[in-house]
Amino acid sequence: MKPKPIAYCFEEHDNNSIFLPKDVARLFCPRCGSKLTRDFIDPTFVPTKKTLDLSATLDGFAIASLRCKETFEALKVGGVRFRPISEASKFWLFEVLQVVKYDADRPGTRKEGFCSACNQFVSVIGFKHSNLQGLAALDSDGIYRTDVEFASGHEKAPVFIVGTGLAEKLRSAKLKGTYLDPIYPVDSAPSR
Ligand SMILES: [Zn+2]
Repeated sequence: MKPKPIAYCFEEHDNNSIFLPKDVARLFCPRCGSKLTRDFIDPTFVPTKKTLDLSATLDGFAIASLRCKETFEALKVGGVRFRPISEASKFWLFEVLQVVKYDADRPGTRKEGFCSACNQFVSVIGFKHSNLQGLAALDSDGIYRTDVEFASGHEKAPVFIVGTGLAEKLRSAKLKGTYLDPIYPVDSAPSR
């Protein structure tokens, strides 16, 4: 019998854009180039691909369309924030506030090049479902981000995880640019 997913990764398509302006030096570690903050909004930002409801910038920010914002509001999803980019913009910064723990010391994930200037690893490579912690305790209608961010330097981004109930609703909503990747219980899915 096929096991049932216990949660889903909620993934978004790349939009080929960069959110943080490169010329604002205080946003980046001078030694390794990693982001030092996510608390900056460039009001002139417009994604290169404008037709996606949720998409990821090359520097690890999630960008939402009005349709995405209205869908999450209609579903009354807690723990997400849609930050306006500007009054005129048709896009919002999509932020997930609740956290799920990820054990980056387990096999399948590599941490490389600890930077003592910004106190983070330059690269965290290899996201593995079985390294997620405490999935059984998640709210079926909740959305979470991993406490670890993946990729290298300024590209690093968390992975979004949704409960099975919310996944069902998001599947019906058909937000353009989004994918749901099932996560199976560890003992039933040795390959992931
Ligand atoms: Zn650094």
